[in-house]
Amino acid sequence: MNPADVQVVVLMGGLGTRLKNFTKECPKSLVEVNGKPFFDHQLELLCAWGFKKFVFLVGYRAQMVEDRYGDGSSRGISIRYSYDGEKLLGTGGAVRRALSFLEDDFLLIYGDSFMDIDYAETLYRYERGKKEGYRALMSVLCNNNRFDKSNVVMDGGRLVLYDKHNPVPGMDYIDYGACMYERSLFDDRAEDEAFDIAEILHDLSVEGKLAAQIVTKRFYEIGNPDSLAEFTSYVKHRFDEEHPAVFVDRDGVINEIVWNDDIEQLDSPMKVSEFKFLPGAVEALKKIKEKGYYVFIVTNQPGAAKGKTDLATLYDINTYMIGCLAKEGVEIDDLFMCPHYPKELPLTKEKFLIKKCNCRKPEPGLIYRAMRKYGIDMQRSFMIGDSCTDVTAGAAVGLSTVFIGDLKCDLCKKLADLSPDFIAKDLADAAEDLPEV
Ligand SMILES: [Mg+2]
Repeated sequence: MNPADVQVVVLMGGLGTRLKNFTKECPKSLVEVNGKPFFDHQLELLCAWGFKKFVFLVGYRAQMVEDRYGDGSSRGISIRYSYDGEKLLGTGGAVRRALSFLEDDFLLIYGDSFMDIDYAETLYRYERGKKEGYRALMSVLCNNNRFDKSNVVMDGGRLVLYDKHNPVPGMDYIDYGACMYERSLFDDRAEDEAFDIAEILHDLSVEGKLAAQIVTKRFYEIGNPDSLAEFTSYVKHRFDEEHPAVFVDRDGVINEIVWNDDIEQLDSPMKVSEFKFLPGAVEALKKIKEKGYYVFIVTNQPGAAKGKTDLATLYDINTYMIGCLAKEGVEIDDLFMCPHYPKELPLTKEKFLIKKCNCRKPEPGLIYRAMRKYGIDMQRSFMIGDSCTDVTAGAAVGLSTVFIGDLKCDLCKKLADLSPDFIAKDLADAAEDLPEV
């Protein structure tokens, strides 16, 4: 599924009563955050992923939303509007009311949430789930009651139960707020029936038809003055200010390269169980964060394109790594993965991954992606990796480069031409030498 072909439906009809000082004049999604309406921040994220078709479900002060966004053409997207009626319909009823606008499958989000997740993964997992009989997909966050009451039970990557009213033991996850739906789930609801969309999701979870995407980054919402203030300072820090970053390659720097029997070569891990942190790597990442840098992991993972594993497993491995780091108190700021490979191989199954892309290192596309998403002080930023492709990618965008390895490597000839700025024994060694921000 290509984001450009997928409709995004946005629930914007809420009254925002807990924000009443801000929403007397305007709907919640238009509350100003750092100089622009809240929803602009989320809309920009979605546009960067390539979404182009939107349906806004509006109610309270709908005209203001329409005045702000119009038909979307000034942003190169299309926006249609569905209006809540007199009667309060709840989230499910609002979607049902828009049924005639909706395409067979759509992404549903809330107009008062900022959800910076991998939407390519959302679409991939949904499409894959549909082939196995799933009818919707819910993004879930390992929550442990951090943000709100947990309401999802997961078992080995499978969503077993979603119930927002009756907590049960084992509920460690929370629904994140971005879900994919089959339109047909709303077909047999009466027009003007008021209901909560959570009912549909609960029933699907019990029937085993609700797929899941585990996300690792917290969400922001503006449901009350405190959360609004929190998001405002986050936005300032992320978009208005420039901070130095360390771009870190994954395999051979953070985790061990593993022996692959099939090809009789050292290779990237192809299963979650093969992922092992290198000694000292977790502490090194912690140190880099403590020194004040963003940490962005930039990694080529052509394993699925080559047919050695599938893309879902590649996502699982990253999710596992980030989860382990979070448990150790290390918050990775973002991860950018290139899953492509330029030519099809005999074992290739997921052919959409075969592509001559601009993100596979030594191309610097992954770094550019980070630059579009964050304010980065490139002059004071670094690229750390154990391949000449890492050094090339970093040097191409003017980063200081750190090569991990010893000088007896077979890449040294190539490296002689590239001349990394620094050579370090391992990530710990590199982290030690980075200047404080
Ligand atoms: Mg590497």
